[in-house]
Amino acid sequence: MDHFQYKHGIYHAEDMPLDTLATLVETPFYCYSAATLRHHAQVFMRGIAGLNHRVPPKICFAVKANPNPHVLRLLKEQGLGADVVSEGEIRLALAAGIPAQDIVFSGVGKKRQEMRFALQCGVFQFNVESAQELHVLHEEAQGLGVLAPIALRVNPNVDAVTHEKITTGRKDSKFGIDIEQASEIYALAHSMPYIKVQGISVHIGSQLTQLEPFARAFARVRDFVLEMRAQAMPIDVVDLGGGLGIPYHPEHAALPEPDGYGAMICEAMQGLEAHYVFEPGRLIAGNAGVLVASVIYTKEAHDAQTDVTHRFMIIDAGMNDLMRPAMYGAHHEIVPVSEAHHHATHVSQHVVGPVCESSDVFLRHHPLPLLHEDDLVVIRSAGAYGASMSSTYNARLQIPEVLVDGTRMTIIRPRETYEEMLARY
Ligand SMILES: *Cc1c(COP(=O)(O)O)cnc(C)c1O
Repeated sequence: MDHFQYKHGIYHAEDMPLDTLATLVETPFYCYSAATLRHHAQVFMRGIAGLNHRVPPKICFAVKANPNPHVLRLLKEQGLGADVVSEGEIRLALAAGIPAQDIVFSGVGKKRQEMRFALQCGVFQFNVESAQELHVLHEEAQGLGVLAPIALRVNPNVDAVTHEKITTGRKDSKFGIDIEQASEIYALAHSMPYIKVQGISVHIGSQLTQLEPFARAFARVRDFVLEMRAQAMPIDVVDLGGGLGIPYHPEHAALPEPDGYGAMICEAMQGLEAHYVFEPGRLIAGNAGVLVASVIYTKEAHDAQTDVTHRFMIIDAGMNDLMRPAMYGAHHEIVPVSEAHHHATHVSQHVVGPVCESSDVFLRHHPLPLLHEDDLVVIRSAGAYGASMSSTYNARLQIPEVLVDGTRMTIIRPRETYEEMLARY
């Protein structure tokens, strides 16, 4: 559920009409809903409430989904920590007021400098992805004279059944340590005086639309934890990652909900007592944000051979602002801000951005009303992996991000200026 909908003929973010917002901020811009972010955090917490935990589970929001410190601060107020993959993300999480003890440091290529920074901050856990990384982390911890708390990120060799570019749990994936080799590396870690073995982690991919791959992976992790505990390996923390998908299509409403996810986990873990950690990203932020854009031009081309008329709607947001369609072939719903347009006759068209790339396309052959210059459209489900993956390709300015909370709006990232752009070089 989200708080983006038509009210009094105009698409709203909570109680804020998006046409009003567009005159204040100018398109294109990202708009997030505070109530939706809060709601998603709470629904997730309720979903996993049935777990057998010694201490309350840690929910560490995957910062890469949406690193804006204002968003992180709002989630922190809901009790969430951070899952980070770089020193930059640690700094953003700390700037948002998230304590280091609520930060999990993931990532397959942590550099020495990043490790030192994280050790000095005192992060909760390093999720280690290789024997080499373990050696380097040990050296750095020794150099600082501190203990590095670790989990091994295991690869359970389960196919996540998602897009090729976001599956991570198979043997041919660069992520994690093959679960069959993990006991050896646990033994190595346990022998290192500046490493504190405390947990295990698993993350098999993103935008998973079925629970079954999670269930298989988690059951494997459970069996492995019991095996390791039987050998007196102190595995207390069980970090089950993120990856639960969200409905990008209106027809996808039948996706697993956090309740079902929680029930599946309880069943897969069969009462395994642990300090549980989760790393949801998309589920929290994805449907809590939209990208608002204006129509610049429309044009038509008739293909005589197939007798098809191609209609193009050229909008002022491009693939540099929202990369998911170009990168993953991802579908994002597009709706007009005016409800009258929404009810007008729909005609098949292509919605494209202004970037000089053929892949700068948001929708192909999609039924939409015929719009005109300056009409506003909303690209839905853009709160995760939207702004965070954006670039300034084609020397386009970084677009603003706005947080709406009821009737209030805050610009939480201003539009970049041409002066700032020039000053970068
Ligand atoms: C990206 C990532 C996540 C978050 O994935 P979502 O699909 O956004 O929930 C969690 N953990 C790790 C290690 C990741 O790389």
